[in-house]
This record gives sequence, C-alpha cells and structure tokens, in this order.
Amino acid sequence: MEDIEIPASHPRRESLLVREKLIEGFKKGFVVPQGLIAHGRGECFDYLIGEETQPFAKEAIDAAVAAFLLARYPVISVNGNVAALTPGEVVELADVVGAKIEVNLFYRTEERVRKIAEVLMENGATHVLGVDDATALIPELFSERRRVSSKGILIADVVLVPLEDGDRTEALRRMGKTVVAIDLNPLSRTARAASITIVDNVVRAMPLMIKRAKELKRRSSSELKELLTSYDNERILRNAVRHIAQRLLGIAESEGLLIC
Ligand code: ATP
Ligand code: MG
Repeated sequence: MEDIEIPASHPRRESLLVREKLIEGFKKGFVVPQGLIAHGRGECFDYLIGEETQPFAKEAIDAAVAAFLLARYPVISVNGNVAALTPGEVVELADVVGAKIEVNLFYRTEERVRKIAEVLMENGATHVLGVDDATALIPELFSERRRVSSKGILIADVVLVPLEDGDRTEALRRMGKTVVAIDLNPLSRTARAASITIVDNVVRAMPLMIKRAKELKRRSSSELKELLTSYDNERILRNAVRHIAQRLLGIAESEGLLIC
C-alpha cells in the first residue's frame, strides 16, 4: 500500500484508513467504482450510528452465528468491497463455522472473479467457489449476480451476504434461504428483506462474528436453536432506526442546532 499521511489524532482516521483499502482494491482492479460509491452511502449511516457496534448489532450477530453453526450447508458470499475490507476475516469465519466461500459479483467479469479468489487464497482460503462453476441461475434476477455456483449458494440453506443488493436478498429469501446481511442502512431493502440484519460496518462486524462463533460453538444445539427462535429482526431494525434518530437529535441539541 502507498504511504498515506493520516495523523493519529485525525477524528476520521479509522474511516480514512478503510477508504484506503477500497482505493487499493480499486487500483488492483477488483473493486468497481460503484463499490466506492456504495461505501460512501455506508459511511454516512456509520456516522449517524456513531461508528461503534451497537447492542442491536451484537444481538443480530449472535443470532447469525447460531444460524451458521446450526446450518446444514452455510455459504459466505464475497464481492469486491468485502475482499478489499475483510478478506482474512471471511476465511477465518468460514473456517470456524464450517462454511463455503463463494465469489459473487453484481458487476461480474471473469477477471474480477479471479482477482478476488486470489485475494482470498492469499489470505488462507483453500477453496473458493464461483470461479469456474458459476453456472446455476437464481430465478427472476437479471444482473450478473444471478449467476451462482451449483456447489455453493444454489444449495445453501444459510447465506451470509455482507454488502448485498436488495433485489438479490429478496430473491434468495424467495428461494427459502436464511439470509444474513451486514448493512449499515437499516432502511435499505437488503436490511428489510434479510432474515437477520447486522446493522454495523463489515470491518467491525466480521471480527466480532468470529469471536462469537468461537464462543457459541461450545453451546448445545438446543441453546443455539433457542437463540434463533427468540430473535426478531423487525425489533432489531426498529431499535437501529430509533438509535439513529435519538442520537441525531441529541447531537443537534448539544450543538445548539435545534431551536424547539
Ligand atoms: P438496497 O439495494 O438494499 O435497497 P441500496 O440500493 O440503497 O440498498 P446499494 O448501493 O445496493 O444500496 O448498496 C450499498 C449498501 O451497502 C448501503 O445500504 C450501505 O449502507 C451498505 N454499506 C456500504 N459499505 C458498508 C460497510 N462498510 N459496512 C456495512 N454496510 C455497508
Ligand atoms: Mg441496491
């Protein structure tokens, strides 16, 4: 990575370092310009959330990990942004919960798929699906993202889609899959269509998922099932929206921006 001068005291330091990772992925040709813009939308919501993992995200992470540990055939779907931001975490999480890894791209080119698989291999992956085997099609979808591996997403019961598009999340749900999304916007179609929505930044959520997976692995399957059945995604989304609204009002008030 090129040397970048971000002072240790800079208030947006973490966020700027994350941007650099995406820019690096863009220069290497596996992050698309649309991915940079999507990240900007995410940053805006992260700013409103407070750039920290909130209780509603922690609760969703536990349910997501339980779903993964109980799954028959779990798959983690990886796109360009995820490969740029958390490639090592994808590999480690897949290892801990026994999931397959599949490259799946909205703006698919064989070269990008290959580059992303390479990044995952450099980070310790031994097998990556979606490279030469993305021959199955998700019904009703028209982007290249409908192409999936017949050994991966097509037959998965639980799919983790960090940074997903709304249409595809809805299509995966219609196929009867449990969809776990990581999305900073609790109002997006992805967030609302997913079975479990982790409203947090992937760079914070992925390491936390690994930590919780190592801990929850020791629980019995009936305890994990209980965790999952008592989970209510609607309530989590409501808590996320309420948190953003209250935080925004609190900040505005303390800055003297509210006159009522
Ligand atoms: P949808 O298709 O679900 O309605 P959208 O069209 O508003 O969503 P997209 O452009 O499809 O959004 O994808 C960007 C989404 O990814 C945004 O909702 C944004 O909050 C989220 N996002 C971007 N970067 C991150 C990140 N680092 N961590 C978590 N979420 C992120
Ligand atoms: Mg979208």
